Amino acid sequence: MIVILVGPPGSGKGTQAEFICKRFGIPQISTGDMLRAAKRAGTLDPKYLAIMDSGGLLPDEAILGLIERRLEEADTKAGFLLDGFPRTVPQADGLAALLATRGVALDAVVQLDVPRDLLEERLVNRRTDRKSGRIYHLVYNPPPADADLEHREDDKPATVARRQDAYEAQTAALLPYYDAKGLLRRVDGVGAAADITQRIERALGSVPASGEEKAT
Ligand code: AMP
Repeated sequence: MIVILVGPPGSGKGTQAEFICKRFGIPQISTGDMLRAAKRAGTLDPKYLAIMDSGGLLPDEAILGLIERRLEEADTKAGFLLDGFPRTVPQADGLAALLATRGVALDAVVQLDVPRDLLEERLVNRRTDRKSGRIYHLVYNPPPADADLEHREDDKPATVARRQDAYEAQTAALLPYYDAKGLLRRVDGVGAAADITQRIERALGSVPASGEEKAT
């Protein structure tokens, strides 16, 4: 199972990715998480750090290099879920080339659809527990009292609008791109997390298990 989760910042990709990965036994590959890990380790190029913190997108070649190295790891053999990648049409083309050289194909692209006016409120109230990596919402999904909470630098109000603009300007173009290939599954991303999970499960239910298609 090779799946892409697409949606604007704050649409719930991280939360839902956890569900899909458990359900299908595949690793979650989040370029944002990989970049934040590099930031914590002090190995992220300072010019990329500045782009990230201001809400812009890193260059396609840098991101494609990151993904190429990640796909060489053994745990991706049975499939994987991409969260936050691709974000531009050149990245999607680069991914297609990487998959083709491995003789594998995408099974589905799940689009989490959330209106822009709900997104800002979600991001500004989003907190991550440094210990567990779990994502919380201060009002709707409050963290436990002992959580060690982090508010992402790029979840602060001034940066949030810039990230939404980047999504609309560059990432939204992926929707017609994958729709034309018959891969797009649109899921309503408004409501309780568990309900959205069920919608994704239904949307993926129409996808043949990896290998079925190739066996015929
Ligand atoms: P995310 O956690 O997916 O929202 O990513 C956080 C930030 O990392 C983004 O705002 C970008 O600055 C950078 N980033 C993550 N993934 C990508 C990507 N596929 N292309 C370009 N920049 C990315």
